[in-house]
Amino acid sequence: MRPLKIIVLAKQVPDTRHVGPDAMKPDGTVNRVKLSTVFNPDDLHALELALNIKDRIPGTEVTILTMGPPKAADIIREGYYRGADKGVMISDRRFGGADTLATSYTLMKGIEKLAPYDLILGGRQAIDGDTAQVGPQCAEKLNIPQVTYVEEILELKDTEIIAKRRLEKGTETVSSPYPCLITVHGSSPECRRRQAKKVMKFKYARTKTELSSRSIDELFIRLNKEKTYLNIPEWNVEDLNADTTRIGLAGSPTKVKSINSIVLTANETKHLTDSDTDIEGMIKELIIHHTIG
Ligand SMILES: Cc1cc2nc3c(=O)[nH]c(=O)nc-3n(C[C@H](O)[C@H](O)[C@H](O)COP(=O)(O)OP(=O)(O)OC[C@H]3O[C@@H](n4cnc5c(N)ncnc54)[C@H](O)[C@@H]3O)c2cc1C
Repeated sequence: MRPLKIIVLAKQVPDTRHVGPDAMKPDGTVNRVKLSTVFNPDDLHALELALNIKDRIPGTEVTILTMGPPKAADIIREGYYRGADKGVMISDRRFGGADTLATSYTLMKGIEKLAPYDLILGGRQAIDGDTAQVGPQCAEKLNIPQVTYVEEILELKDTEIIAKRRLEKGTETVSSPYPCLITVHGSSPECRRRQAKKVMKFKYARTKTELSSRSIDELFIRLNKEKTYLNIPEWNVEDLNADTTRIGLAGSPTKVKSINSIVLTANETKHLTDSDTDIEGMIKELIIHHTIG
């Protein structure tokens, strides 16, 4: 089997375990500066699937592609530490405030710039927007087949990939020709840990925006000049030759009007045991209130 070129779509997301009252801006977009961030969990599963293919087919190349603010370069470093070969950062203020339509357009432009490729792997969904639309939209825009909810790659042949999909009531085995886009389900294997050697090798890797920051240590600038593998490529609107009417807020028909935090009060909650009487009572109540049935 020939080596494959794989692109992993990975997003830096707010750590939803620590969301405070100022998590959203008045315009309904995420106030990213106020939130600590993590590698989107499903995207770590996608990275593992890619690295597993690399283990099975030597010479396979794994590239992480992310769109986000300058800080999202953490995602690329994290990918390097776990075994990715390359990383590309799409960053420009004009990409900010994107909905899924604008995000998938922008990622599609980045993927086209990275072509040729055999596989694009992404998470099933991101934990901040939770739409699960970006992967499928990218496939549509690239005009390539898509396989969603994948939990295992069963076989890699020269002309097709065979994958197992996780469905609500079982699994489904499907095949697709290359190139194709796969979204990865959280039931697939956990991502491998960082490797100490790779952390040592890539911990100084920086984008040009990071290197131009006033607070950057001179050591990072010197090392990035000496060792070019440390330079994380960063693409802006012009690099992608992107249509400015299709990116960022301007290219986003979706507007999040308000976010409500629902906190149940004591009289709105009910404690039930797993006894037949309690469960029967609950079902009757749900039917009476037309919640079900
Ligand atoms: C509360 C809330 C509600 C929202 N509702 C909507 C809505 O109804 N409609 C809408 O269009 N937008 C909505 N958005 C905006 C949406 O979150 C962003 O557009 C986001 O950039 C992409 O959508 P997602 O997070 O849902 O990604 P998903 O479609 O859930 O992501 C799937 C996969 O695509 C890849 N991916 C996604 N974003 C990136 C990225 N920036 N870089 C690299 N890979 C990426 C990852 O592999 C990810 O696992 C909402 C945002 C918030 C905070």
